[in-house]
Amino acid sequence: MSKRIDITDLDIYYGSFQAVADVTMTIEERSVTAFIGPSGCGKSTFLRTLNRMHEVIPGGRVDGEVTIDGKNLYGKGVDPVDVRREVGMVFQRPNPFPTMSIKENVLAGVKLNSQRISSKAGNELLERSLRSANLWEEVKDRLDKPGSGLSGGQQQRLCIARAIAVQPEVILMDEPCSALDPISTLAIEDLINELKEEYTVVIVTHNMQQAARVSDRTGFFNLEATGKPGKLVEMDDTTRIFNNPSQKATEDYISGRFG
Ligand code: ADP
Repeated sequence: MSKRIDITDLDIYYGSFQAVADVTMTIEERSVTAFIGPSGCGKSTFLRTLNRMHEVIPGGRVDGEVTIDGKNLYGKGVDPVDVRREVGMVFQRPNPFPTMSIKENVLAGVKLNSQRISSKAGNELLERSLRSANLWEEVKDRLDKPGSGLSGGQQQRLCIARAIAVQPEVILMDEPCSALDPISTLAIEDLINELKEEYTVVIVTHNMQQAARVSDRTGFFNLEATGKPGKLVEMDDTTRIFNNPSQKATEDYISGRFG
């Protein structure tokens, strides 16, 4: 299921403003890749180019190539809707559909993608997705209750279940714990660790300890000055980035000497 992603010479723009310049990297399959770096260096922007979410912003465009197992996401004739099914996304604030039940939330993407499924298959997919998101035991007796009635941490796991239900290859997470308490954060971190058995996981985090705890590989982005594009300074095994980075800028950032 899981696939590797190759990014080559990627430039990202908002209108005439270039937010990110010249990123080349490989994201390994069945692993967790974290992006760290100071606020505004383009981590979230870059993440959104991996499932063609960047271009929904007016003026949003990219130059360069992103391939998943060799297939160019930006190739002619590629439907962004298919890309977003293959590459799911979880956001900073849990965003369950407020009027939908827990069950409807999990199956929402499946229905949107107009894969018509029987009620038996739907129930199986519901349970499987909630189990994969470590939420089944907590909600199995109230599947028809509103998703918005869950705690913040449960809502975020519900959103992860919703992302998993459409059977993506890749799961992108943009600061998935920043709105959560420490206990819920640990639950999500445990879950991320399990998800990499099956999926390619990419996470943006402002929390360096979190990157160190959950990721196998880390990319450090930096910004030379305000108004300049963010760049990938280096990418390596997480233990190496945190213990023995090759760039001084990385060392300054991870040791807190930044800015
Ligand atoms: P990070 O995730 O590292 O904090 P972002 O990707 O959010 O950085 O932002 C990178 C740059 O792009 C910043 O200069 C930011 O102001 C700009 N930016 C982000 N979103 C938009 C947008 N919708 N329109 C214009 N500029 C944006």
